[in-house]
Amino acid sequence: MDLQLTGKRALVTGSTSGIGFAIARQLAAEGAEVIINGRSRSGVSATIARLLEAVPGAKVSGIAADLGTAAGCEALVTTCADVDILVNNLGIFDPRPFEEIDDTEWFHFFETNVMSGVRLSRHYLPAMKARNWGRIVFISSESGICPPAEMVHYGMSKSAQLSVARGIAETCTGSGVTVNSVLPGPTRTEGVTTFFGRLAEEQGVSLEQAEKDFFANARPTSLIKRFIDPAEVANLVAYVCSPLSSATHGAALRVEGGVVRSMV
Ligand code: NAD
Repeated sequence: MDLQLTGKRALVTGSTSGIGFAIARQLAAEGAEVIINGRSRSGVSATIARLLEAVPGAKVSGIAADLGTAAGCEALVTTCADVDILVNNLGIFDPRPFEEIDDTEWFHFFETNVMSGVRLSRHYLPAMKARNWGRIVFISSESGICPPAEMVHYGMSKSAQLSVARGIAETCTGSGVTVNSVLPGPTRTEGVTTFFGRLAEEQGVSLEQAEKDFFANARPTSLIKRFIDPAEVANLVAYVCSPLSSATHGAALRVEGGVVRSMV
């Protein structure tokens, strides 16, 4: 299937690793011009080199900016004034007992996971509407509809993204601009692998056993009983970014391995 992304300019936030990198790679492989984002120049440069290795001839550039702040978002949109496709992928997580999450942390999660997408969407949307074509995708999580006890602040931010995405979609009625959310489940990113490595060590079990225990105890409803590969998330996101997905609008699309039991 040709996703018809050649000539489209796409910004993927937080894309120097994990799901963001997989999305950037997939969009580039489909012919889009991709802008990588991370906090450090060195990280962004290394990612551009990594992407060019994976997709020789890819049209890729990068911007180092901390999108967890208003100033960082402002710096990014000053450098990159216009895009056809915005993937609000940036998101942080940190398992912590509810009683220990102070106000500063709550606001940090809200600023990074929610306001980054709000600020960038607010900037890029008017030109998309004027052109009558654009794609905004929020990378939320199954945690947005199944709030996790081990990181309540993260769950709040992922639910908020669903509301923001649907709300922005309501402002794009009858246009060629679509706004959707994608909800991944537990995905085998570098961060998740490190986290489980540490957990396995603490529990004195193998990494394989720690993962098996996770799906038996923490995510028993998973139908696939394994971590999702970042590329599996990227495949869905690339489709949602494509002109082919024009009737998919205001939706919360799941790629969570069946963890969420509801049928709609
Ligand atoms: P990750 O931690 O692997 O990657 C995050 C990226 O964001 C990195 O490139 C990092 O450098 C960059 N980054 C971090 N803080 C930044 C900042 N302030 N400004 C700019 N860049 C910054 O993330 P991931 O696990 O791939 O998650 C990506 C998205 O998918 C997040 O929104 C997350 O909530 C969501 N998600 C992840 C999982 C999972 O299991 N990994 C599951 C569901 C949803």
